[in-house]
Amino acid sequence: MPILVMKFGGTSVADLGRIANAAEKVKREVERGYDVIVIVSAMSGKTNELVKWVNDTSGFYDAREYDAVVSSGENVTAGLMALRLQEMGISARSWQGWQVPINTTSAHSAARFESIPRDNIDAKFAEGFKVAVVAGFQGVSPEGRITTLGRGGSDTTAVAFAAAFDAERCDIYTDVDGIYTTDPRITSKARKLDKISFEEMLELASLGAKVLQTRSVELAMRYKVRLRVLSSFDETDETSGTLVCDEEEIMESKVVSGVAHSRDEAKITLFTIEDRPGIAAAIFGPLADAGVNVDMIVQNISEKDYDAAHAGAVTDMTFSCPVDQVARAKKAMEEARAEGKIKYDELIIDTDVSKVSVVGIGMRSHAGVAARMFKALSAENINIKVIATSEIKISVLIDRRYMELAVQILHDAFALDSAA
Ligand code: ASP
Ligand code: MG
Repeated sequence: MPILVMKFGGTSVADLGRIANAAEKVKREVERGYDVIVIVSAMSGKTNELVKWVNDTSGFYDAREYDAVVSSGENVTAGLMALRLQEMGISARSWQGWQVPINTTSAHSAARFESIPRDNIDAKFAEGFKVAVVAGFQGVSPEGRITTLGRGGSDTTAVAFAAAFDAERCDIYTDVDGIYTTDPRITSKARKLDKISFEEMLELASLGAKVLQTRSVELAMRYKVRLRVLSSFDETDETSGTLVCDEEEIMESKVVSGVAHSRDEAKITLFTIEDRPGIAAAIFGPLADAGVNVDMIVQNISEKDYDAAHAGAVTDMTFSCPVDQVARAKKAMEEARAEGKIKYDELIIDTDVSKVSVVGIGMRSHAGVAARMFKALSAENINIKVIATSEIKISVLIDRRYMELAVQILHDAFALDSAA
């Protein structure tokens, strides 16, 4: 039998009615001839509640017990889903992580997969069971303790099962009906994509389109798992949603596929630093140690003999990071300066910036994307503060008050509202 993986997120299993609705979708796939592996999240809000209970009990908690508590939400939905399916006449069995077993590292609350042996679930399918309902987000460590994968981890569980079981596809049921060219709350012209490549999805996922956990897309790309994102609230069929797939499966793609945004960014400039070998390492080493996720980095060309007080050349260094890490970044820089590891005249912090990016695999073979982007922004008098590019992405940092406008005009500039 071909195997299909179906994942239901928290809102899709939020109460018994929704579990029944999801079970109907599973039943339909069984009737189409699939053996189905269903991955479930906790009911929406449940994991947050469990995390709060842990925090309210213990400030500096034991991560093993955190995992013991927060993994429980998925156990409840897995059992209920199996029961619901049985009520509908479908032979289903639930599986907790340790029963499969889903072997992970022992990095509690941020565990990684080691292996997912097929034997136990395959044996159940061979007995005639049609559905294995697996608790998402959890696994078991080499020490035999329950682990969790990090928030949003059920997406990654689903992809890992699809890879381990050579599933035909991995369907991710959620509360949106697919991946859009941009955030539909920012422009009503946002259009649902039929297909998007893994690489583009990865850029969009990490740039703030919060539909899929980034790790799940990385895993899907590595194992070429065809991933479909679709709504559990709509009537769905074979063609619903958005297929995230290898670029070879996408015949015709536009130069730009989507516009992403990340609202709460900050820009930090170290003004007048020495231009010498090792200076970047001296700056970004302490930032990394402080756990600052540096994103864009710009180093100016050297201003030779700018100032006699600085023997040799000087330059400036600018980087961006999430707003809520600014305090940490500032402290790391001030300490490095106090310890004599770096010198700078001034630390300039701008916490009112956002990042807007255009993404598309077509950029690899088309020139002029950057020019078109910058022209569109300049027509609206939006000042670009920092620019960064990769093979399939161009990002700019701009004043936060222009973020929505920038997304709208770029969506227009690349004609993303039309399919062709
Ligand atoms: N329930 C977990 C969370 O909220 C995992 C998931 O739903 O993907 O993070
Ligand atoms: Mg999710």
